[in-house]
Amino acid sequence: MSRLKELNGLGVVPGDTLCVIEEFLPGNWTYDYDNVVRATVVGRVVTDLRFRVINVKPTVKTPQLPSKGEVVYAVVTLLYDDVAITKVSASESGRKYPNPFTGLLHISQVQEGYIKNFYEVLAVGDVIKAKVLNNNTPYILTIKEPKLGVVLAYCNVCGSLMKKHLTDTLKCSVCGNLEKRKLSINYSNVRF
Ligand SMILES: [Zn+2]
Repeated sequence: MSRLKELNGLGVVPGDTLCVIEEFLPGNWTYDYDNVVRATVVGRVVTDLRFRVINVKPTVKTPQLPSKGEVVYAVVTLLYDDVAITKVSASESGRKYPNPFTGLLHISQVQEGYIKNFYEVLAVGDVIKAKVLNNNTPYILTIKEPKLGVVLAYCNVCGSLMKKHLTDTLKCSVCGNLEKRKLSINYSNVRF
């Protein structure tokens, strides 16, 4: 039994043998194969002697989430009358979110002054640079500042990348189509 007690707190990596199934049953972040219990993550062993279960507590940090005031990149996925739904996929500081978070952009957070509807300032598929206004999901976004707004957009007619034409207008370099957007002053000058 002393060996089993020593297991508690032991650092392990995926695939490490923890014990045989007669000693402990596989719990969180473990699996058993051929009656041998192994770890599935980098972490520390936590044994539960009462229920005879062995767990691994992951030590790898979960990815840091966007926080209030942070500038992020998001893709516009849906436009309603007064709210745009986006997927936040990266931060300006270089963090990537493999499972993008939902970001909501209210029409009052696009620019100063009245906007009739989103079709004058955004389109589905646009990549925007936005600032996060809260600390939890769904993230509330703003693109009012000059550096915020659309940073990449594709032509509605032919799908080509649009080029900046005027401060609020893009032009397709292939078909000449003109489209309005709330542009970031960093339009097309982005690194992911
Ligand atoms: Zn075009």
